[in-house]
Amino acid sequence: MAAFYSTRGSGPTGLEAVLQTGTAPDGGLFVPERLAAFERGALAESGTPAELAQRMLAPYFEGSSLAAALPEICADAFAYPLPLADLSPASNGARLQLLELFHGPTAAFKDYGARFLSACLERILVDEPASSQPLTILVATSGDTGAAVASAFSGRDKIRVVVLFPKGRISPRQEHHLGCWDENVQALAVHGAFDDCQRLVKQAFADSGLRERVRLGSANSINLGRLLPQSAYHAWAALKAGEGSHFVVPTGNMGNGVACLWAREMGAGVGRILLTTNANRTIGDYLSSGEYRGRESIGTLANAMDVGDPSNMERLRHHFDGDVDRIRAAVSAASVDDERIRRRIRREHEDSGAVLCPHTAAGVDACRDLLAEGGTPDGDWVIAATAHPAKFETVVEPLIETTVAPPPQLEELLLRPSSHEEIPAELAALTPFLG
Ligand SMILES: *Cc1c(COP(=O)(O)O)cnc(C)c1O
Repeated sequence: MAAFYSTRGSGPTGLEAVLQTGTAPDGGLFVPERLAAFERGALAESGTPAELAQRMLAPYFEGSSLAAALPEICADAFAYPLPLADLSPASNGARLQLLELFHGPTAAFKDYGARFLSACLERILVDEPASSQPLTILVATSGDTGAAVASAFSGRDKIRVVVLFPKGRISPRQEHHLGCWDENVQALAVHGAFDDCQRLVKQAFADSGLRERVRLGSANSINLGRLLPQSAYHAWAALKAGEGSHFVVPTGNMGNGVACLWAREMGAGVGRILLTTNANRTIGDYLSSGEYRGRESIGTLANAMDVGDPSNMERLRHHFDGDVDRIRAAVSAASVDDERIRRRIRREHEDSGAVLCPHTAAGVDACRDLLAEGGTPDGDWVIAATAHPAKFETVVEPLIETTVAPPPQLEELLLRPSSHEEIPAELAALTPFLG
């Protein structure tokens, strides 16, 4: 029977409760009691990403009510192409490939985790008596999370979704994608930054009176149900790109970063991991100083990574018992500011016609910069391409001086009507929307 513990010690907790609550009762984040270890050769027998996910995640589902449904859940989450696409080689000749994670319904990697979680929760709730209380998923978003979660849960029975986003700090298209869903999805524009949205979510979860009245669930990357499938796509890329390929992971809340680390720990053959942030430098500063200091986020062009106090740092530190030297040995970090993001988007387009979203551009820039310095390990690199550039057209189009056509699935969403409400960044303003 798989068991999960809080990063702060409490547990064990079963999979069903972990997926429904997101945060552990002691305020920590759930992690598996131990990560499963595989032979790379055994993982490589998987013919599709869904099959690989099923193989890698089976140990965490063992003994749970969801175990038998895992193949269907993985098929649901990995229903879209997961290609690797070449960029022009690095200055040292290394092969650079983009792992295109943006072929799902909202064109960002978060579709994988959101659909996986949704497929799990639907099955848990359907097994409950008809009179049981609906689950209200409360999610803070700096852009892409909200759309992926709204899409994945839209129209589901017994589940409501409330999406908080920082008013005026996401692109018009992103805003549209939050409010164009079925009636069980409510979008709320919060007067504040992403960190205010995240704080409201934490406050709601910490309010015991509220939680007695409302059954709250989370779908931020603090939810383990999102991280587990993300490990599978990193592993898929590592199997395709060759043993020891290095990874660049554009990261904000450290969800994708932790997922890549777990893929390596589970035996996928991931080489080095280079975490890339935008100008929010908390992770890099922690690795250089050894002292963790969360701070206010600052707004950047790569706004889905505008996080000053990344929640999943707690999982990273827990994994290495808080030993910063071990963390430094496992991952490195680079920060790429807006100027470099702009330059990189322009240059890749000029050099090879590649069009990158700002987050992916930060990753590509960090990678090329590292390789240009020399003294880096040999080997090829995989860069996680986290969103389709058409989601960030207001940034990308002026730089490359041409339009970026949205993929068909986004076109379709843009034709739907979209609406949201506005609230101040206070818990009292949020609670009426929670049911
Ligand atoms: C969410 C997001 C990120 C950052 O992911 P984390 O899980 O917070 O590390 C990067 N790029 C895009 C496009 C995103 O939507």
